[in-house]
Amino acid sequence: MKKCVTFDGKTISKNQEFVVEIEDLTAEGAGVAKLDGYTLFIKDAIVGDKVRVSIMKTKKTYGYARILEILEASPDRVEPVCPVAKACGGCQLQHLSYKAQLAYKQKKIESCLQRIGGFTEIPMEPIMGMEEPFYYRNKAQFPVGYDKNGAIITGFYAGRTHTIIDTSHCAIQAKENDKLLAIVKEYMKECHVKPYNETSHTGLVRHILTRVGFKTKEIMVCLIVNGDRIPKSEVLVEKLKEIPGMTSISINVNKEKTNRILGDKCITLWGQDYIEDYIGDIKYQISPLSFYQVNPVQTTKLYQTALDYADLKENEIVWDLYCGIGTISLFLAQKAKQVYGVEIVPQAIEDAKQNAKINGITNAEFFVGAAEEVLPQKYKESAGIMAADVIVVDPPRKGCDPALLNTILQMNPQKIVYVSCDPATLARDLKILCENGYNLKKVRGCDMFGNSYHVETVCLLSRIK
Ligand code: SAH
Repeated sequence: MKKCVTFDGKTISKNQEFVVEIEDLTAEGAGVAKLDGYTLFIKDAIVGDKVRVSIMKTKKTYGYARILEILEASPDRVEPVCPVAKACGGCQLQHLSYKAQLAYKQKKIESCLQRIGGFTEIPMEPIMGMEEPFYYRNKAQFPVGYDKNGAIITGFYAGRTHTIIDTSHCAIQAKENDKLLAIVKEYMKECHVKPYNETSHTGLVRHILTRVGFKTKEIMVCLIVNGDRIPKSEVLVEKLKEIPGMTSISINVNKEKTNRILGDKCITLWGQDYIEDYIGDIKYQISPLSFYQVNPVQTTKLYQTALDYADLKENEIVWDLYCGIGTISLFLAQKAKQVYGVEIVPQAIEDAKQNAKINGITNAEFFVGAAEEVLPQKYKESAGIMAADVIVVDPPRKGCDPALLNTILQMNPQKIVYVSCDPATLARDLKILCENGYNLKKVRGCDMFGNSYHVETVCLLSRIK
């Protein structure tokens, strides 16, 4: 790594100090400042801050700096609720007021649609914020380790590392976790159960997974272990089952040398194999391995918006692509004639079918496979019978496969509802759809992950007649 750079005749070198004003925030929530045209990225700085910084890394036209001192704080700056907010990799924006976080997310969507999508008039609706941007996550996976005094700690990884930050209380996780973690640590100490060490691949407990049903109040605890059993499991069970709402206690076997958190096999120690929870009126069974949205309150708002945008009639056929465990599909099935869901992970489709069954939903059918392969194939096979009035897509961050966009265009639905977790790929895909016969009618952000830089978006496109 070069220690200095010459930009516009001036030398900027590592450890050199500057006073700068923050003008913007990046898509990942870092502050942006200019040094006579040279761009600096500064973690934990926000628009309106005047800060003294020290250069950490220099590239040709931009560099990275860290805050030494806040000389003038932005009016949007707030004290983080969590004492380890800075060190922990979980939240990037706790120092930004929630109102300003929402404005930042709204602008992020808008500017992606302008810059990448080439849209000039954007039918933006106001972003759906959270009533309480804390304690909203229903799922946590705490790594387990030792601190430097040899005490067992649980917490989260520091940004971009595998160093555990001791966080016995996390401000975005369900409040029940504090008690659960304390019990597991007590059990480990009492029964001499060691945390897993990823360097030496020794020790037993790798992670503690917890899930809480926000509506049902059911609680799940699963210890992810480097072995097939845990010693004296009855001691752990005795302690945990006293917690009100405890429904499922299990271990998950993961003996691999891997960054993957969960292994494939779960063994229930006590109670049910799963907990139940609701999104809207639809009930879900959630096992340690199931995918389930982590913020059910905001998810309900997001899917309700998707349903409103789809404005389904009783005789309409809907495709839900990238359907996961069928969350959106089952929401849509309440209004449509028939829903077809497509998802690449077989286990998720198993869950989707089971979820349809426990809710008595009979007009949803699910297929395993890549959406870009299944959709054209089914469409062709059925000679147009599996047509679509509405197509909903909810792809991962990389967005839709071009082959899928092509098939969607061929199927020519009246409406497309695009749910996205990345405004940049959303903008790229909308551009293609709108260059080929669709109009962008509505765009609405939804904050599912308060205090992080992430934002979900739902858009309505309608076919130009
Ligand atoms: N709509 C779902 C999940 C959306 S997340 C929900 O709300 O719960 C995106 C999903 O796309 C994941 O479940 C992922 O497994 C799936 N996926 C990724 N690539 C895919 C592909 N090529 N075809 C179909 N599904 C895919």
